[in-house]
Amino acid sequence: MNKLGYLIDMDGVIYRENHLIPGAVEFVDALRAMGVPYLFLTNNSAPTPEDLSVRLNHLGILGISPKHFYTSAMNTADFLVETHPGCTVFLIGEGGLQTALHDRRIANDGIRPSYVVVGEASASMERLAKAHECLERGARLLATNPDNWCPVGAERTRPGAGATAAFLEASSGRRAYYLGKPNGYMFHRARQRLHDLAHGPVDRVIMIGDTMETDIRGAVEAGLGSYLVLTGSTQMENLSDYVYQPTRVLQSVADLTSEILTGRPSDRLDSPVFGDSDVGPTRSGHRHQTDVLAFHKPRPRPAMTK
Ligand SMILES: [Mg+2]
Repeated sequence: MNKLGYLIDMDGVIYRENHLIPGAVEFVDALRAMGVPYLFLTNNSAPTPEDLSVRLNHLGILGISPKHFYTSAMNTADFLVETHPGCTVFLIGEGGLQTALHDRRIANDGIRPSYVVVGEASASMERLAKAHECLERGARLLATNPDNWCPVGAERTRPGAGATAAFLEASSGRRAYYLGKPNGYMFHRARQRLHDLAHGPVDRVIMIGDTMETDIRGAVEAGLGSYLVLTGSTQMENLSDYVYQPTRVLQSVADLTSEILTGRPSDRLDSPVFGDSDVGPTRSGHRHQTDVLAFHKPRPRPAMTK
């Protein structure tokens, strides 16, 4: 029998700001009732898995074990341990990143670190200047995720790790390596975790997310199924801007609940590209540019570029 498992983005899928998406509780309950393996996958490197479990508790999704969360901070720690054992880091980041690196015994080093690691944080100019000096002394630049900004409300955003990394790219002339979604290493490790949670191989892994550039793009490139929900950052009319398309489009995770409980596919609309649904005229031109510019905006070339 084909064993199915889900990787689930949080912001815009399970909650928005401090409100649960309607039907999210029932969706998670269905996963738990049917023993379907699932892992919450977030690019936010600030919280620990324990923090996220408490946050869901307060929102009304009770008792999710921290082992069901995987953050870009944990992915960064996994990446460093695997690719550079014994490395040291200078950090710009909050509790989730500090804890993840500490748990994997990666040492802090403010003198001659192997890496400057940038996560979600309100970095002081003093800290940025120190990171800049470390880069000048030969440290490599690593960001936990590529998000230039993150939503904090319906009308408000805050600068993300991508923007902090861009600051240091400009000052040092070094290019950052960006982990987190859509990086394949995030999906590679998340899939491994899902297998561990399932105590065996999961034949079919599906990413559920609200953001095309991270959730859907990463899933497509990792060879996973991808379900886009319209409760977050993507509207149906913007779908045709993207070269890659989700396997299915759902109004929300609530659409999946009966499918999980009964095992019978719901008749909700499928992807406009692979299905028959009519989503209006397809736009022409600029698809690659639109996609590329989402995370790699042209920046002035620094005067001191090596
Ligand atoms: Mg999201």
